[in-house]
Amino acid sequence: MLVEQSGITRRELFTLTAAAVAAAALKPQQVAAQSAFELPELGYAYDALEPHIDARTMEIHHSKHHAGYTTKLNAALAGHEELQALSIEQLLADLARLPSEIQTAVRNNGGGYANHNLFWTVIAPGGSGAEYISPTLQAALVAAFGNHDQFVAEFSTAAATLFGSGWAWLVSDGAGGLSVQATSNQDTPLMVGQTPILGLDVWEHAYYLNYQNRRSDYIAAFFQIIHWGEVSRRYAASMG
Ligand code: MN
Repeated sequence: MLVEQSGITRRELFTLTAAAVAAAALKPQQVAAQSAFELPELGYAYDALEPHIDARTMEIHHSKHHAGYTTKLNAALAGHEELQALSIEQLLADLARLPSEIQTAVRNNGGGYANHNLFWTVIAPGGSGAEYISPTLQAALVAAFGNHDQFVAEFSTAAATLFGSGWAWLVSDGAGGLSVQATSNQDTPLMVGQTPILGLDVWEHAYYLNYQNRRSDYIAAFFQIIHWGEVSRRYAASMG
């Protein structure tokens, strides 16, 4: 009745329905192609980490640098639907399996995508204080480094002495063990089967506006805003 009242014939209705079905059938492919990886929202405002990390640095770092890695990662994966179905951790864990022409792009931009995803979550306004380290992570830190201050010293040295651009990490081996590591560019311990649970970006884009050449001051500030609750959660999740 409604169809007749609105003047749409059965033939037109069929055509409209067929078009709707075709559109619905196309939709999953379009979604997969357009949003393989998405830039995550920060859990806080750009100015929330001041004075340790300034708002302008956070805005550029997130909305330009991280967004750029995301866009370029998706561009590298365009046309590779089977790869778009994988997690970023799966992609980075076995780069040699990828088509050779996109290995470098996925290593650089996929690494950048994953590394910043982690970074935004392990820092938080005001940090959470070392008292929020879980008992199991605390025990593992003591086993690996002797005490908390020694861990801070080793991590800070790794971050300060890394030549050029890269990251300092606290890494879980999946069997309880922890180590401090450093990687160049956007490389990540995920590439060698290990799980970073805390990371510090020491590319100049992460600190230069506020700290210029004073990387050691930036490293010290980082320890004021570590979200130890999230690091503890990641440590627990890293155990296979
Ligand atoms: Mn960065």
